[in-house]
Amino acid sequence: MIPLEAGRLAEIMEARLIRGSPDRIVRAVFTDTREEIPEGALFFALKGERFNGHHFVAEAGAKGALGAVVSRLPEQPLPPDFLILEVTDVLAALQRLAHYVRRATGPFLIGVTGSTGKTTTKDLLAAVLAVRHRVLATRGNRNNEIGVPLTLLELGPEHEFAVVEMAMRGEGEIAALSALAEPNAAVITNIGEAHLERLGSVRAIARAKGEILDYIPPEGFAVLPAESPFIEEEARRCRGKVIYFGESDKAQVRLLSYTSLGEKGCVFRVRTATGEEEYQLPLPGYHNALNCTAVIAIARQLGFSPEEVQEGFRRVQTSGMRLEIEHWRGFTVINDAYNANPASMAGALEVLAELGKGRRKVAVLGDMLELGERTVAAHREVGEKAAAVADLLVVVGERARDLAAGALSAGMPPDRVLAVATVEEAIRQLMNELEGDEVLLVKASRAMGLERVVQALRRWG
Ligand code: ATP
Ligand code: MG
Repeated sequence: MIPLEAGRLAEIMEARLIRGSPDRIVRAVFTDTREEIPEGALFFALKGERFNGHHFVAEAGAKGALGAVVSRLPEQPLPPDFLILEVTDVLAALQRLAHYVRRATGPFLIGVTGSTGKTTTKDLLAAVLAVRHRVLATRGNRNNEIGVPLTLLELGPEHEFAVVEMAMRGEGEIAALSALAEPNAAVITNIGEAHLERLGSVRAIARAKGEILDYIPPEGFAVLPAESPFIEEEARRCRGKVIYFGESDKAQVRLLSYTSLGEKGCVFRVRTATGEEEYQLPLPGYHNALNCTAVIAIARQLGFSPEEVQEGFRRVQTSGMRLEIEHWRGFTVINDAYNANPASMAGALEVLAELGKGRRKVAVLGDMLELGERTVAAHREVGEKAAAVADLLVVVGERARDLAAGALSAGMPPDRVLAVATVEEAIRQLMNELEGDEVLLVKASRAMGLERVVQALRRWG
């Protein structure tokens, strides 16, 4: 963050400084007292579903915070000089300050949104840009109305680029995040069925993602998924240049071929305006080659050479539980328990097929949440796809029935399809069934807690 005097902060946030000196310099912000507190940090007492930050103001002070932004005055004793900035809405104050810092630091900011693959694409893009520049990227998955401002507040004058992940569950949310972040460019990774429940139709999902395009200036650009539904309608919202990426003729940056290198990743070829290029990526999965295609479109537009892009891909570090590959004893486990929707299930099953060539393949799949009316059909389709890949299918949760029905309808032998209600039951079944040398895929929506299967395997293996 850029250092700011408390008095100036109060002006920016429309806050009242009711305790402490206006000359004190704030150098960072934080919202969680369990985290390590940086030097000169100001605590924002946010109200969440489970916690109210106002209960932790004294703790923040005891741990060395410089002060707090609150909507209600703390009753507990506070350190001398501790700043208290009073506002009516703490989250709005955080956002206001974030917007100020974004403008004051002025990096070229790229917003990353889409139904699936935002974090992965963000990590890939940040790695490429970092080959030549100082880059700030969203840490982990801080992509909502709190995470985006916290990301922006990390900006300093040294950052030439910012890569900011933006997520949504409903209409208007991407617009609000875009108004804060003022992106110079945007990438929409894809438009799929995630959050169908809230938005009702894929058309509405496309429109909600498209909100970011209203905020791209004429000199900016947007990289859009060529094959996604309703994308042309949305593209019209963009005043800047539009570049399509994807697999079809329509894509200006087009994925031409994909070859799996097993656990080592993959090699793929892409056609851009200047010819054909080959890249190697240390991550498996066709869908990751597609994410890279979007990144290549952005990087080339920004003047990066194919060699620089390749160097970025070589260095990429991705965030956890996304197709993490682990080995114990004879097992290979593909831990993709981070989240799940139809597109990412299909991608992960493809990876299971690639990595499991010639070995016994086991898919442990759980519910995909928030699919609304599409729930039953989507689970059946994933079940069908699983039948084509897996030798043993263990399905967990309320929608296990539908996953199993899909697999059976695709001809999977009934004794190879085990439907169970709980994660514990899944673990017991696996203990009985596994021989010790299988390749396993573990995947469901995050709330299912399927990472416990991975933990159990670790202990066992
Ligand atoms: P969230 O909405 O939770 O932030 P996200 O959009 O950031 O998710 P990632 O975390 O990058 O997505 O990836 C989530 C899952 O989707 C992972 O399991 C990953 O393997 C898979 N995935 C990544 N990119 C794609 C893609 N382009 N198409 C399909 N699946 C993908
Ligand atoms: Mg994410």
